[in-house]
Amino acid sequence: MYDYIVVGLGVAGWSFLQKLDENRQNYVVFDNRSQQSTRIAGGMFNPVILKRFTPAWKAHELLNYALLQFQKAELQYGNKYIHYIDIYRKLTGVEEQNNWMAASDKPVLSEYMKDIVYETIDGIEAPYGFGVLQGTGIVNVSQLLDDVAVDLKQHDKLVEAAFDYEQLQIQDGYVSYQNIKARKIVFAEGYGLKRNPFFKDLPLTGTKGEMLMIETEVDIPYIVKSNVFIAPNVAQKGQYYVGATYNWEDKTNTPTAAARKHLESKLQQLFNKPYKVVLQKAGIRPTVIDRRPLAGKHPKYENLAVLNGMGTRGVILAPTAAKQLFQYLEFDIPMMKEIDIRRFDKK
Ligand SMILES: Cc1cc2nc3c(=O)[nH]c(=O)nc-3n(C[C@H](O)[C@H](O)[C@H](O)COP(=O)(O)OP(=O)(O)OC[C@H]3O[C@@H](n4cnc5c(N)ncnc54)[C@H](O)[C@@H]3O)c2cc1C
Repeated sequence: MYDYIVVGLGVAGWSFLQKLDENRQNYVVFDNRSQQSTRIAGGMFNPVILKRFTPAWKAHELLNYALLQFQKAELQYGNKYIHYIDIYRKLTGVEEQNNWMAASDKPVLSEYMKDIVYETIDGIEAPYGFGVLQGTGIVNVSQLLDDVAVDLKQHDKLVEAAFDYEQLQIQDGYVSYQNIKARKIVFAEGYGLKRNPFFKDLPLTGTKGEMLMIETEVDIPYIVKSNVFIAPNVAQKGQYYVGATYNWEDKTNTPTAAARKHLESKLQQLFNKPYKVVLQKAGIRPTVIDRRPLAGKHPKYENLAVLNGMGTRGVILAPTAAKQLFQYLEFDIPMMKEIDIRRFDKK
């Protein structure tokens, strides 16, 4: 008998596995690579909303816990995942400069939002300067998931196959699936949740995002944010991530010519040096109407749980959501009401 079956090895599933390891629980994981949100994400962590210069929800507290968990993984797998890189937000005029200055004096924001600088970055013109953010960066989540998968396989804990919901049997105090028995099952399938008959009615909308990887001879040492992000590929020098698009209609993982055109036109407004597109990828962000995670138990079946809804900020949100779900499932400690799926119960 296992303690847990976990379905989905994205950043949400991995965050839950961290809690299981910390609490010496035994488990088996299913993943079929049908969703790829985590693997194609830029992996950026930034607690400031760069459109309005406001803090993201509980960003400081959630980011600190997330970084702690990624650091633990660095020790566990002997690899570097966290890369601190300043974000340079290109300012568009005097009004934005004033807004930046006002916001950067406020609590929480002042920890991250620093001075306006007029540094020249080759290929990028910024007559009104850049607002600099520090304490931000990129987590190489794709590398992390590769390392986790290798480790799980070595310990016979990973089943690389689709989880077939119809074969799940719900018993008193445990679940069984084929020849596996477990006390509980946690579903962390990202947008794949839509096929899960137990939780498919949760208000997960899904927002397709596409990104380009470019190569250029210019050295851009920061994450630059204007109408698009340009961010160094931490795994490959000379390559830069350009993203991302937001599409609420198309729910496929297929890259499109329209998204490439859109991203390239924004890129060319920002960056005026030669570059070559070497890769284009698409994924569905598991977004929720109120932009908060979805965590909790099935209303009827005690041993079925969900961990989803990481939206556009999986790196920051998933570790805390996983911790809260684990404490709730094992010790009945209530979760933050903002992430608890019971907020959507019909009154
Ligand atoms: C273009 C783009 C850029 C982004 N940039 C950032 C960023 O810079 N920073 C940030 O924090 N977030 C970013 N995000 C958002 C982030 O990627 C998500 O919040 C996060 O990855 C969601 O993680 P997840 O584990 O819930 O889902 P996923 O990563 O989609 O993982 C779900 C896993 O479950 C598996 N699965 C599904 N159904 C089944 C089944 N039936 N059986 C077996 N396995 C199954 C899938 O194969 C997949 O591996 C970005 C997203 C996109 C698309």
